[in-house]
Amino acid sequence: MTYDRDNVFAKILRREIPNKTVYEDDYVLAFEDIAPQAPVHVLVIPKGEYVSLSDFAAHASEAEIAAFFRAVATVAEKTGVAETGYRFLANCGRDANQEVPHFHVHVFGGRRLGRMLPPPRA
Ligand code: AMP
Repeated sequence: MTYDRDNVFAKILRREIPNKTVYEDDYVLAFEDIAPQAPVHVLVIPKGEYVSLSDFAAHASEAEIAAFFRAVATVAEKTGVAETGYRFLANCGRDANQEVPHFHVHVFGGRRLGRMLPPPRA
């Protein structure tokens, strides 16, 4: 899948759309999700053009990958959920309902998060 430069996160990275930044460095931007599903709901995205986790794992540099995982932990610290606990989640592709085709992880916290997945539909 080729990278779509018109996706909403590409526009956020170009500052064409505003965001509430939680953390930023040379490789990563983290910002509040526009439709939060928990008291803390932050999106962490690489600044490079990667469609999905699979694309990122296959093509990102080791520096980008290291910075990305460190940024997730930094977001947990900065939002105050490192102690109480948090979940990070990446939707990848159709069956996971990935809506934005720029690799991102969600960081959730600030309440008990319940089961990892809802039970399968009958
Ligand atoms: P996913 O289904 O994993 O692709 O998640 C995409 C996420 O992006 C959703 O949780 C949306 O609420 C979020 N989102 C979409 N547009 C924006 C935006 N402009 N600013 C912040 N979050 C956004």
